[in-house]
Amino acid sequence: MSDRNPTDFRTGIGYDRHRLSAGTPLILGGVTIPHEKGLTGHSDADVLIHALVDALLGAAALGDIGTHFPDTDPKWKGAKSEQFLKHAASLLKENGFTISFIDCIILAEKPKLSPYFPSIRKNLSAILNLPLDRISVKAKTEEGLDSIGQELAMAVFASATLVRHPG
Ligand code: MG
Repeated sequence: MSDRNPTDFRTGIGYDRHRLSAGTPLILGGVTIPHEKGLTGHSDADVLIHALVDALLGAAALGDIGTHFPDTDPKWKGAKSEQFLKHAASLLKENGFTISFIDCIILAEKPKLSPYFPSIRKNLSAILNLPLDRISVKAKTEEGLDSIGQELAMAVFASATLVRHPG
């Protein structure tokens, strides 16, 4: 079997967690969500995009978000996470991969996120040039437990399935 057969599927996983603080915008999947707290950390702290970038790069064995976007590199200073996602998608393309499917779970106690799923999916679809039916976004609370349940943090698990083209 060729290493580049047409059914050469690759799966990657990604995970990220960011701290919640008052007075910072909450941005998930590039969408600003009204809430009294937001995520803090590197870039705009878009925990969903960070996990997704790791899933995509992981599926292509191209390293991780820290490899490509180190927070010490002035090139990416102040960059929106959407730019990381765009760049990751172009790296995949250069390496002969097409995104087949992405899925993610946002772990957050509040606010209720399901009303924002359509806009998050639409935004990811536009950034990745990927049809909506290949993008899944879900959310779970942690029932008041641990740092996420106590609204100190949010985390995201993501998975990505890629196809590597023959050639
Ligand atoms: Mg992060």
